[in-house]
Amino acid sequence: MTEKPFNLFVTESANSLIISLFNQYKHMIHNKYLYSKVFFTGLVIIFLSTCQPESPPASPNMEIWKFSGSSMGTSYHVSVRVSAGSVTRKQLQQGIKNTIDTVDRQMSTYKPNSELSLFNRRRSTSWQPLSPALFKVLSVAQQVSKLSDGAFDITVAPLVDLWGFGPSPSPDRLPTATEIKALLPAVGFQRLRLQSQPPAAAKQLPNLQIDLSAIAKGFAVDQVAGYLKNLGLSNYLVEIGGEVRGSGSRPGGQPWRVALEAPVTGQRRINRVITLHNFALATSGDYRNYFEKNGVRYSHTINPRTGYPIRHKLASVSVLASNTMLADALATALMVAGPKAGYALSSAHAIAARFLVHTGTGFKIKETVAWQRQVD
Ligand code: FAD
Repeated sequence: MTEKPFNLFVTESANSLIISLFNQYKHMIHNKYLYSKVFFTGLVIIFLSTCQPESPPASPNMEIWKFSGSSMGTSYHVSVRVSAGSVTRKQLQQGIKNTIDTVDRQMSTYKPNSELSLFNRRRSTSWQPLSPALFKVLSVAQQVSKLSDGAFDITVAPLVDLWGFGPSPSPDRLPTATEIKALLPAVGFQRLRLQSQPPAAAKQLPNLQIDLSAIAKGFAVDQVAGYLKNLGLSNYLVEIGGEVRGSGSRPGGQPWRVALEAPVTGQRRINRVITLHNFALATSGDYRNYFEKNGVRYSHTINPRTGYPIRHKLASVSVLASNTMLADALATALMVAGPKAGYALSSAHAIAARFLVHTGTGFKIKETVAWQRQVD
């Protein structure tokens, strides 16, 4: 992971700091002749007001603590409002890191000995026991697959790898139609069976492989939120790789504010700032993780039905949901579905979604009624 230094800059508003999540964007040259893959993580920018004389802290003993670090091939940022003496900074720092690293150890396809990698490697088609956490994420993933009629599909793993977006080294050429076709029979969420008592999963095909990159970061955000809640801390903003959950308020009682990024490659431009109270927000986009070959852009979001990266005019989708895991998965599902079908799907299921659609000269914004109701 190529990391940029933590990136803080002051906006025109003198008492606002923007913490850019692009501190850890990657620019990876996979093959100097063929591939140039650009990978940025984080499609939101979080605003945190500081030193605001017009908004004194709710209590003189309240302060905001900020934590950041790296895990899951990306960065995380956590802001928590704490009362003096209720908990130590070191305890929180360690607890947050442990919580995220636990999800990484369970659900990474980049760690050969994670629970998921071991499941992927086993060729058995009999029931395999799962941790409750992995079971929960697989269950929600399957629900989103059904809802999206297979647009979201965690069994897309072999295709993700074939196109060079997974843990394997990127190839120096495009996959052939034959290679893609050969993998399609091993892709299909219906080929993964789940049982809850006790938590277990069974592959219908020995070579079924799972990729949780489109959902597990959201789950990790929820786990950190749960950890903080268990400590009695109900005012926080948690972000991992651009997926965000906020609860309560900032000092002074104002709600957390989050800036949605404009879909411009290589630049940090704010498209919209939203003010939200209790929320989970996730964004999927086509402009931060892709490679270009012969003038064609290949996105890391794969259509599981065709085996090819998505090719449509949707630049990004942001989703608000009751938890970040769901928002994360839905954002990818809608990204695969595309501008029309994605909008229809989110409207039909009252999903709070915001679509940024390429027009050729710029971007058009489409928001569902559910989004407009939730966003100030
Ligand atoms: P999202 O839109 O949220 O997800 C897109 C990703 O989902 C694709 O990259 C692909 O993997 C998968 N996908 C593609 N199409 C579909 C589809 N139709 N349905 C379902 N899923 C699809 N990256 C590293 O470089 N190094 C690491 O060590 C590393 N560790 C990780 C550990 C964990 C537990 C997780 C969850 C991810 C890890 N990653 C790692 C991946 C990385 O941090 C991002 O999660 C990933 O690149 C996608 O996140 P995103 O928000 O950009 O895209």
